[in-house]
Amino acid sequence: MTSKLLGHFLQENLSELKSKGLYNVIHPLQSANGPIITIKGKELINLSSNNYLGLATDARLIAAAVEATHKFGVGAGAVRSINGTLDLHVKLEQKLAEFKHTEAAIAYQSGFNCNMAAISGVMDKDDAILSDQLNHASIIDGCRLSRAKIIAFNHSDIDDLRAKAKQAKESRLYKKIMVITDGVFSMDGDIAKLPEIAEVAEEFELITYVDDAHGSGVLGKGAGTVKHFGLSDKIDFQIGTLSKAIGVVGGYVAGRQDLIDWLKVRSRPFLFSTALPPGDVAASIRAIEILMSSTELHDKLWDNANYFKKGLRKLGFDIGHSDTPITPCIIGEEQKAQEFSKRLFEEGVYAKAIVLPTVPKNTGRVRNMPIAAHTTEMLDRAVAIYEKVGKEMGILQ
Ligand SMILES: *Cc1c(COP(=O)(O)O)cnc(C)c1O
Repeated sequence: MTSKLLGHFLQENLSELKSKGLYNVIHPLQSANGPIITIKGKELINLSSNNYLGLATDARLIAAAVEATHKFGVGAGAVRSINGTLDLHVKLEQKLAEFKHTEAAIAYQSGFNCNMAAISGVMDKDDAILSDQLNHASIIDGCRLSRAKIIAFNHSDIDDLRAKAKQAKESRLYKKIMVITDGVFSMDGDIAKLPEIAEVAEEFELITYVDDAHGSGVLGKGAGTVKHFGLSDKIDFQIGTLSKAIGVVGGYVAGRQDLIDWLKVRSRPFLFSTALPPGDVAASIRAIEILMSSTELHDKLWDNANYFKKGLRKLGFDIGHSDTPITPCIIGEEQKAQEFSKRLFEEGVYAKAIVLPTVPKNTGRVRNMPIAAHTTEMLDRAVAIYEKVGKEMGILQ
C-alpha cells in the first residue's frame, strides 16, 4: 500500500490547479524545435523556443555532434573530477573564456545546475546576497542553497539596491556581500542596468554575478550583456547557458582563473554529477566558433525581431518595453491570455501563454521569441494570424 497522505496531498493540489486553469498541459513535438514545428500532426509557426539563432538544428553542429559521438561515445562516463573530463571539455572551456573575454571558464550540465553550483560554491551562511526581485528561479534556488541571507531589491531599482547594499555593509553582519541579476529578464525582455549595478558594487565592495542566459548570442554582437556594456573587467561571475542561443545544452561560469580553479574543487554539480556528453560538448564548441567568426545569425535575429515587433505594434497590440528579441504580447486577464494562445494554435501559431505566478496578476501574456531561422514569409503569416485572432477576441479594434 502506498502512502495515503501523499495521495491526498497530490489529488487535492492537482485538482485545485486544474479548476483554476493553471495546470500546464504539455504537447510533445513531433519534429525538431525549429522555426516550424509539428504538434498533434499540425504544422505551426514556432514562436516559443529559446533557439534564438536557429543553431539547435544547424547542420554544422549536427555534424560536430555526430563526429564526436563516434569518437567518444554517447556518455562521458564519469564526473568531471574523476575521469569524465575529455579533452573536448577543456577545449569548450577555453573557447568559452575567449568568447566571454575572461581568464577562464567552467562548464556544467545545465544553466540551472550552474546556478546551484556557483552561488553556493562561494557564498555561505556568513554572507548576504542582494538579488533582483525578478531573478530566474534557478538563481533563487541557488541563493537558498548557499544559506546566505537573501535580500531582494525591487526590479532594476538602483536606488533600492544602493540603500540595501549600504545597510548590509554598515550592519557589519556579513563577511561577503554579492549582487545577483539576470542580464536579460526573460518575461519582459528588459536588460539589467549593469553599469549602475557595477557602480554600486564598487562603492560597497560587492561581488558581482550576472546570469546572462538570454543575453549571450543576442547582445554585445553575440558576446552578451556584459560585453554590450563594456564591463568585462568589472563583473566577477558571468553565467551563461549552452541551451538557448547556443542551441545545445549546458551552462557555464566565465571569470578569473582562481575563481574557476576554486569551483573545480568545490562546486558540487561538478564533483557529483556526470560530465556533459561528448556530442553536446562538440556541438557547443562549433556554435561558439560560429558566433565568434561572424555576426550573420545575430544580425538576422535582430532583423527578424524588429520586423515582427513592428508588425504587432502597428496592429495596436501592447508589446511592453522589451529591449531584446523577446516580444511579450500583453493581454491582461489570465483566462483571456490562455484563450488567445489557444486560438493562435488553432490558426497555426505556437506561442505560449505566460500567466500568474510567473508574471504578476492581470499581466497575462503570450510571449514570442522570433529567431534567426524564421523567414519573412513566416513572420508575415504569424502577424496576419495575430490580427485575425486579436480582432475576433475584441483585443484589437
Ligand atoms: C533558462 C535560464 C536558466 C537555465 O538554463 P538551462 O541551461 O536551460 O538549465 C538559468 N538562468 C536563466 C536566467 C535562464 O533564463
